[in-house]
Amino acid sequence: MISANDPKLKSWVTIPKDSDFPIQNLPFGIFKTKYLSAVAGVAIGDHVLDLVYLHEHGYLDGLGLPSGIFNQKFLNDFLALGKKKIRQVRERVSVLLRHDSDELNAADREIALVPMEEVQMLLPVRIGNYTDFYSSEEHAFNVGSMFRDPKNALLPNWKHLPVGYHGRASSIVVSGIPIHRPKGQIKPSDSDIPIFCPTRKLDFELEVAFITCGENKLGQRITVDQAEDYIAGFVLFNDWSARDIQQWEYVPLGPFLSKNFGSTISPWIVTMDALEPFRVEGPAQHPHVLPYLAFEGNKNFDVMLEVLLQAEKSDPVTISRSNFKYMYWNVNQQLAHHTSNGCNIQVGDLYASGTISGPSPGSFGSMLELTWNGENPLNLPDGSIRSFIDDGDTLIMKGHAIRNGVRIGFGSCNGKILPST
Ligand code: CA
Repeated sequence: MISANDPKLKSWVTIPKDSDFPIQNLPFGIFKTKYLSAVAGVAIGDHVLDLVYLHEHGYLDGLGLPSGIFNQKFLNDFLALGKKKIRQVRERVSVLLRHDSDELNAADREIALVPMEEVQMLLPVRIGNYTDFYSSEEHAFNVGSMFRDPKNALLPNWKHLPVGYHGRASSIVVSGIPIHRPKGQIKPSDSDIPIFCPTRKLDFELEVAFITCGENKLGQRITVDQAEDYIAGFVLFNDWSARDIQQWEYVPLGPFLSKNFGSTISPWIVTMDALEPFRVEGPAQHPHVLPYLAFEGNKNFDVMLEVLLQAEKSDPVTISRSNFKYMYWNVNQQLAHHTSNGCNIQVGDLYASGTISGPSPGSFGSMLELTWNGENPLNLPDGSIRSFIDDGDTLIMKGHAIRNGVRIGFGSCNGKILPST
């Protein structure tokens, strides 16, 4: 039992009702303010706890942390200390924030606790490598049905290995950074040759990504049983996609410019430790997987996910509700498969789940599926319709888990689409 996860814990910090950040969460991020350059912090209620201040004033003594470890633009060096050290810091912060602790004195509380409205969140890690999986059966089935054949929607390999591809790390941005509608080659059905123009089928993909805190040597693999030692935590992930560009370019090597123009992540790394109480069994895997992908125990997480679309000058509207628990392939299997050939992973790598669609139409994780490639457009309350995403639309992703009165949330993952440049 991780003591920081105790549902009975209360904090002296006021936690608003339905906050994503109670004392049982304590996710890590990088923030700056008018007065502070980029530093590491922990979210608590509507505040950010400044880890540099805590460290410099002796509140983290005894943990053996290198000096300046939190006074950095990225969390990579902190994550590289390993899962046990990350857990110790989270446990120590939990003790300092408990309602029955007055160890953090009043003057220091005042300075170390920064209101969220005064901070700007930044990318939490310098992302070295980004891999995107394709691990939701419902999503793979829907896409296969639409573009190939409902009778053979899944390709023969799909139930034998977690399909994935290497994505682009440089264009991953933090929530709040707008994305311009990309241009690219598309081939209209009524034309014999392709044209170059702004995408007409801009889409989102609802995903959850894990971030790594360990490294294996090139040539060595990480087993299913070892995988969790390498996973620090999770963020929400929007894998923006241009479907018309994708359809024209993806054979034979897969998506390229239809995906690498931008992806958006939520700013807080919710630790795998904080999600421990929310483990659930995943979907049954038939046929049996090969031995190197076999696992025991509950490796899925019951995290409710929601996608909202906010048209310009309108209120946000929920367009999808899904759940991280629907993943057919779990993160242990993804990492074990990724390194099964000896591929080395690095601290701060990002591994996205693939679009997470549930079994019902309201739980589909992309516009492609929600509107069935534009055949059934969404009717929004403001009277407008959407087959795909319009300029000026903001996509908002949220996620949280609830059990025993404890709600562990991710904050939000927002991105606005601007016109093509
Ligand atoms: Ca994707």
